[in-house]
Amino acid sequence: MKKSMIALSAIFVLVSQASYAAAQPDKVQTTKKATSLQKSDQDRHQAPTRKDVPAKDEIKLITEFKTKVDPAYAKKIQSAASYVEKVIIPNMVKNIGNPKKVKQTKIVIEQEHWDTPEKEAEAFDGGVTFFYSGTKNYVENQFRNVIIHEMHHILTADKHSLPDNLVSPWPHWLVEGLADYEMLNYAKQYGGEIFKALPTKKEIAHNPIDNSYLSGYQYAVPFIQYLEEKSPGTIRFFYNMKSGDDFQKKFKQRFKQDPTSIWFKEFLGQKENIVFEEKGKATTETKKVEQEIRRMIQQYLPTYIKMKNISAPFYLKTIFQRTSQEVTFQIITSDIIQEKQFKYSDLDKWLSDKIVKTETGQEVKVEDFLLNNLYISDDE
Ligand SMILES: [Zn+2]
Repeated sequence: MKKSMIALSAIFVLVSQASYAAAQPDKVQTTKKATSLQKSDQDRHQAPTRKDVPAKDEIKLITEFKTKVDPAYAKKIQSAASYVEKVIIPNMVKNIGNPKKVKQTKIVIEQEHWDTPEKEAEAFDGGVTFFYSGTKNYVENQFRNVIIHEMHHILTADKHSLPDNLVSPWPHWLVEGLADYEMLNYAKQYGGEIFKALPTKKEIAHNPIDNSYLSGYQYAVPFIQYLEEKSPGTIRFFYNMKSGDDFQKKFKQRFKQDPTSIWFKEFLGQKENIVFEEKGKATTETKKVEQEIRRMIQQYLPTYIKMKNISAPFYLKTIFQRTSQEVTFQIITSDIIQEKQFKYSDLDKWLSDKIVKTETGQEVKVEDFLLNNLYISDDE
């Protein structure tokens, strides 16, 4: 039977995502080119080269110091690299493969990131960079954690770092979320998981937008765990994706819903996808606003209302501030977070005039965007 489904077809550039990506200790960077090596005293203190020929599941980790560091720091990072090389990587390769046939990876230590001095580490083509100023006080397990996280990016590069003309199957949240998920599992072997406190479901439910799975990293980990429990084999299903696969489509084939719907409706246990939050006591005035917003939603999103029982790809939250009569209006979908604070009287105008930019640079009205992304599918 033909059934109407809601899906998203475009990927949007998120201002809010960019801001938390910058705040994260690392970010996948494929554009960065390794600069020519500058020999330093520390080069002589590199971990000894392994005499034996690497087995097929092994990847050699080579540390390169491009800045002068404390000897204790050098010892910790080299010891961490050696541990990850011998104990963790063979398991990672067995589990997720090594499609790009990486044989060795450089662990480069630089003074600090040219643009973001607080940055701790990042992955680049074929290697991992640690920034000394951001990681000076790391203990060895923290180095292990970061190396594993970045090695996950390197081993799964075929899922996210593709030439321009190819579509990357994994969205950002999965790239970072899965790297942390795997890292935390390995970290249990050496007690390193204590450095990453996972947000609780309660904390996420309290603020599902700021703590959204779309943030990736530790915010996505409980969601990935949930998906795996709900449908065992989901993580394997993610790894089996190939370049050119449509993530949204494949995900919906498996779950019959998009991730955002599952996030709000099941993971967070919310019955409604429209949440009204009033700061201050409910008054006849705030009740009037709530009614009016409901009316607008019904006017602009009739398809959504009709299909409410099938799938709701967006989450809508309004916060009414009694004193200023301001409304914070948020829409969240798998690929877009829009947040706007404005006077209640401007709400109607915003809904009809708001322009969002798609990845292709196309500008669409927000209501058109929402409606255009509702489509009829043959899914059962
Ligand atoms: Zn990362």
